[in-house]
Amino acid sequence: MSLTTNDQNSADEVAIQITDMNKWYGDFHVLKGIDLTVKRGEKIVVCGPSGSGKSTMIRCINDLEKHQSGKIEVLGTILDRNPKNIQAIRKDVGMCFQHFNLFPHMTVLENCMLAPTLVQGTSDSKAKETALKYLDKVKIRNQADKYPGQLSGGQQQRVAIARSLCMNPSVMLFDEPTSALDPEVIAEVLDVMVSLADMGMTMICVTHEMGFARKVADRVIFMDAGEIIEDDEPNAFFDNPKSDRTKLFLSQVL
Ligand code: ADP
Ligand code: MG
Repeated sequence: MSLTTNDQNSADEVAIQITDMNKWYGDFHVLKGIDLTVKRGEKIVVCGPSGSGKSTMIRCINDLEKHQSGKIEVLGTILDRNPKNIQAIRKDVGMCFQHFNLFPHMTVLENCMLAPTLVQGTSDSKAKETALKYLDKVKIRNQADKYPGQLSGGQQQRVAIARSLCMNPSVMLFDEPTSALDPEVIAEVLDVMVSLADMGMTMICVTHEMGFARKVADRVIFMDAGEIIEDDEPNAFFDNPKSDRTKLFLSQVL
């Protein structure tokens, strides 16, 4: 079936545009002139050595870290110091971290219902319905009444993903979501991320899971020392990297 004009337009729509963005931690120039455009529905994998600025870059997108110069625009809203704009962007952008940051004293279901009821004023019954829908999606609905400490790391990370989805974000940012997990549960989290990608979610994933990158990414970005060194579609990125720094990195992780 061919796309209608409208679909074509929304497929071309820019979700995130970062232009000449710089950030310093004190005197340390951590992000140096970052340019990145992500279209709606695109899946971007970000890799690079530890300390290269990957986390800082994605944390700047929802203002968990502040950039000092350049421009970040998310779904048409410019990320400036206006609290209304920051709030609008945070509403659209979900984030999952290496450590899941679930509330230990709340059940899985309560963790998922908290932000929609507290931040968005959603009714308990609607929040519960949404929570169960996404817990089902990450295949953990049967654990809804357990506490995080009763679950494996992979299960907790799936809950964390469901919790983000309950806010109905348009963009999901992942910061090494599998790097704290035991090898045997990494696949279950990656499977959930693949299914999110298949749903058409716009995603930026910092990960060193190169199999996932090959399978899911529209583009793979390599960062080193605060700069984007390479930005290419996965086959070209893995089979024919341009920069020596990318080649060296790939020889270490593959
Ligand atoms: P990555 O995610 O690629 O490992 P980060 O974005 O976490 O890299 O860090 C980039 C650099 O910034 C590192 O040198 C790190 O030590 C430094 N850094 C990160 N967070 C802070 C902070 N809050 N204050 C000062 N330096 C930081
Ligand atoms: Mg990091």
